[in-house]
Amino acid sequence: MDDTGDTEYNNTHRAFLQAFLARSTLTYEQAKPILAAIFGAQEKRDYLVEDVTESDFIKYVTTINNAVSPYDLEIRSTFHQITRQRIYALVNSTSDAITQLATTHSADEISFLKRVLDAIFETNNTRRHEVMAISSMQAVKLAKAPSDRRTSQNGAETQGSSGQGLTLVQAEKMLKTVVEEGWFEKSRKGFYSLTPRALMELRGWLMETYNDEDEDEEDRMIRIKQCYACKEIITTGQRCPIRDCPCRLHDICTQRFFTTQKGKRCPVCKTEWTGRDFVGERAAVDMKEKAKRRSSNGTSRPAQSFVEAESDAAAGEAEVDDDDG
Ligand SMILES: [Zn+2]
Ligand SMILES: [Zn+2]
Repeated sequence: MDDTGDTEYNNTHRAFLQAFLARSTLTYEQAKPILAAIFGAQEKRDYLVEDVTESDFIKYVTTINNAVSPYDLEIRSTFHQITRQRIYALVNSTSDAITQLATTHSADEISFLKRVLDAIFETNNTRRHEVMAISSMQAVKLAKAPSDRRTSQNGAETQGSSGQGLTLVQAEKMLKTVVEEGWFEKSRKGFYSLTPRALMELRGWLMETYNDEDEDEEDRMIRIKQCYACKEIITTGQRCPIRDCPCRLHDICTQRFFTTQKGKRCPVCKTEWTGRDFVGERAAVDMKEKAKRRSSNGTSRPAQSFVEAESDAAAGEAEVDDDDG
């Protein structure tokens, strides 16, 4: 694209925005062929994908942002926690994602989604095991609303819901939909977790909902943690082996971080960094193995799924807190 400095919002920006809306997120690499097609149509010639520059892309993002900001929309970017690829998403800059989801999903579906989020960030995110993901089996089990009508500590019940919850089929369908809509991603091992886009949109809501605000409280839970290196929310990566140490690092951030540090020591408490203490679904696998070891020692019954394993672990946590520390 020639550098005319023209940043007026026009049909080419509209076309690009439309392409953006059709996907939930875009990377620069994915945007290149779209821009090449737009520039080609505009200039009535073949436009090579290689000729699209990052500056073209940034200019389009900036112009679109100026045009959509009155509607409280904004294209924001974040890094993928595993690949570190920069991901762009059109996000709502004022309302949280839950509110947005409520416009296209029923109250019962939103209640189910909140139960899944509570499981991801509370049940499966304890001091011992920061899984921050949920197996398909565990998620589907949350289809029914809790029978005693007890809401989670964050008030999982949504106004207008029937209180009946969903059928298993409806729950499975809802999970599939939130994956298609770009909120959840499903791993090869069948764990659901939040996508970079969801983390970007839900950042404020997650911190508000799952972190204790009272700073004076001694046992205050900071369930949503940030990577020590890149300061983004971390739901998969590594943790300091010392349970009370807040240090967490994305796998890819450890590679960069430790090359500039002598030895591999926790930057906060200086304990040796094992690289085997995990955040994310690997913490669940880890937990299953420990549960298996415990059961073979006859100290615990075998864990059927990691929900059960976790409640065993949680029960044990009250008594002893350092058998795997
Ligand atoms: Zn990081
Ligand atoms: Zn530490």
